[in-house]
Amino acid sequence: MTKIGRAVVCDAPNTPFQVREFPMRNVHPDEVLVRVTMSTICRSDIHSYLGHRPNPFPGILGHEIIGIIEQLGTEVCLDLRGDTLSLGDRITWTEYFYSGQSYYRDIHDMPQKSPGVRKYGHDLVENDPHFLGGFAEYCYILPGTGILKLPDTITDEEATPLNCGVATMVAVTEASEIGLGDTVVVQGLGLLGLYGCAIAKARGARLVVGIDGVPDRLEIATQFGADHTFDINSTEEDDYVDKIRKLCGPEGADVVIEVCGVAAAVPAGLRMLRMGGRYTIGGLVNPGSTFTIDGSEISRRWITLRGIHNYHPRHLIEALDFVMTNRDRFPFSKIVDSKFSLDQMDEAFKKANEHTVLRAAIVP
Ligand SMILES: [Zn+2]
Repeated sequence: MTKIGRAVVCDAPNTPFQVREFPMRNVHPDEVLVRVTMSTICRSDIHSYLGHRPNPFPGILGHEIIGIIEQLGTEVCLDLRGDTLSLGDRITWTEYFYSGQSYYRDIHDMPQKSPGVRKYGHDLVENDPHFLGGFAEYCYILPGTGILKLPDTITDEEATPLNCGVATMVAVTEASEIGLGDTVVVQGLGLLGLYGCAIAKARGARLVVGIDGVPDRLEIATQFGADHTFDINSTEEDDYVDKIRKLCGPEGADVVIEVCGVAAAVPAGLRMLRMGGRYTIGGLVNPGSTFTIDGSEISRRWITLRGIHNYHPRHLIEALDFVMTNRDRFPFSKIVDSKFSLDQMDEAFKKANEHTVLRAAIVP
């Protein structure tokens, strides 16, 4: 194949993006080549761009990606569900891939924590096959990736966040063991929080409370299943903690989920729990996210404290099934609320970073 593809390269944190061309090659038998139809800017792309966490540069960012199969290696036949893959299929795929033996995958069922796990949007662009990130015309899918065929009826806007935001929140809410009749508080109503509210409701929560400091987010959270919302900028912490404990009667929430990325929110969130409540940290991904808690509160109040990072391939299947069965209940298509071309990447990142858009999509 003598073909050239365009990609948006980030040379170093906090520098303007550059659109560059790279040569394409035919797929190996265990690879797939996808023509990207949409990718979205995740908060972690912004953290990488701002230099808040290590990322190889120069590279192509972007890991929330969907696309159409343009080349299919001869050894790649089935998707995660066992459906046959063909040229022209529109697919999503796990944001990470790994190869070889893995103690964590085989013994502890944590493939996302396999040694040597790699992620899309986290590779040097100079290396073969160049296209391993979302903000480009093409993406190669390498062995060890879980691929999932998308139904024709799901829109690109609904499907693109599946492989990061939705699947992660399926994992976080599963770890929180949300059951019928539970009361659930979600700290942070960005994309993860909105899906968190909706999935909590779908798992049978009787009451969902959302907390954030951006008024627009509080409004949209009510459309995603939040029964009550609190603006942390207009209410004193003691006041909203007290109100939430009363709302989640008789004396506190069964579950609190942190997806705001602010370490200082954890002590307040723990105070919202009932005796024996469960607290899950899903948003503290940057090093240095420290907080202080009294350990005796954890033991005397029987608190379960868990951390979740990334997801198992089964969560991607569940994410798709959740969105497909709840499309009439929650307005998923509203989440991707702006679109940009590859040439508008600087503007797209600026808006995403300023929170003036909920999820910015790149349409190559
Ligand atoms: Zn992400």
